[in-house]
Order: sequence, then C-alpha cells, then structure tokens
Amino acid sequence: MNPQKLLVFGGHPDDPESSCGGLIANAVAAGHTAHCLYGTNHRVGYTYFGRPEKEVRSAEAVAACKILGATWEFLDYPEHLEVNPETRRRVADVIAAYAPHIVVAHWPVDTHPDHRSVGILAFEAYLLHRSYAFYFFEVMTGRQSIRFTPSHYVDISAVAETKRAAVMCHLSQTPDAIWVDHEIMHRFRGRECDVERAEAYLRVDREPGGLLPGMVF
Ligand SMILES: [Zn+2]
Repeated sequence: MNPQKLLVFGGHPDDPESSCGGLIANAVAAGHTAHCLYGTNHRVGYTYFGRPEKEVRSAEAVAACKILGATWEFLDYPEHLEVNPETRRRVADVIAAYAPHIVVAHWPVDTHPDHRSVGILAFEAYLLHRSYAFYFFEVMTGRQSIRFTPSHYVDISAVAETKRAAVMCHLSQTPDAIWVDHEIMHRFRGRECDVERAEAYLRVDREPGGLLPGMVF
C-alpha cells in the first residue's frame, strides 16, 4: 500500500484514541501518516487539577498522540459544537488543508451532541470534497454510538497495548472506565471477524482503494 494520510476527527480529546487508537497505531507502524483533529477541548470556566480544562485536556491529547505516533490539531471550540456556516466552512478547509487519503469521524447517531455535530460536519465536508475514502467510527457503543452497524473491521490485536497507553493519558476522564467499555467492544468486534481484538468501521464512499491498515477481510 502506498503511504496514506489518515485523518481521524473526534469531538473531544480521547475520542480519536478510544475509537481509532488501534487503527492509528497500525497505520503508523505500516509507514502511513495519522493526524488527530479535535473539534472541542473544553467547557468554559471548568478546571481539572486546578488548571483550565482546555490546557489539561489538550495536553492529555498531545501525550496520547505522541504514544500513537500521530500529529494533532485542535479546532479549540468549547463544548456544544454547532453545525453552522462558519463551522461547516472551517472543517471543510481544515480537512482540505491536510489533503487526506482517508477520513474517519464519529457515527452521528450518538447521545453526545458534540459527536453528532462532528459526524455531520465531517460527512458534509466529504460530500463537498469527494476526494478521499470516508468512514464512520463508533465510540462507547450503547452509551454513546447507537445502532452502529459496521461494514469493515480492523485487527488491533498486535497494538492493543499501545492503544491502552494512549487512552490512559486522559487522566481527567477516568480512563480506566473508557478502556473497560472499549475492551468489551474490541472483544465483541474481534469475535465478529475472528480475531482477538478489533475496531469496527462503516465505510460511506464506494471508490477503489482507501483501505484501512490492518483491515480484516
Ligand atoms: Zn467525546
């Protein structure tokens, strides 16, 4: 596979890592490039450990990206991300500037409003560009993603420890609980495709190529 540029767009610090950390680690190990884009990173006026939430959560995401071997970018919006003309234009421009081969974003049927907005903004940008493969990911399925039906699976068995280490960077977010939920998903998705642990994705485009590193067939 020629080197690919993968862009993972999540609502918050911890979403790209918990949903796609295995995919990102697989991609980097295979010589591809991965970029994590974060839609929001704070609530106005909130703190963790006596520091502004924005500072804490951004630093946690940077630490996680370094473990995964990804680069990072913050749109820096506060929680309650809106789908409006400004965010549509900004997201489309940021994705175009990275010039990805593959974009992966939240499945928009989700209990968290920021996840819904990111999924819709990413899908609308894809419809505008149609120049890359486009997939949805799932996060905390059953609690957040709802009625997610995968079309493709990625074997993350060999990189599960790297993914776990990235999730554990999010000390402000009870990372043990995030990992427990995602481990249930890894095992269940793995059972569906006959590997130990897997992540699941739903592909939207029908173009040739655009395959995910570690994809199970
Ligand atoms: Zn989130």
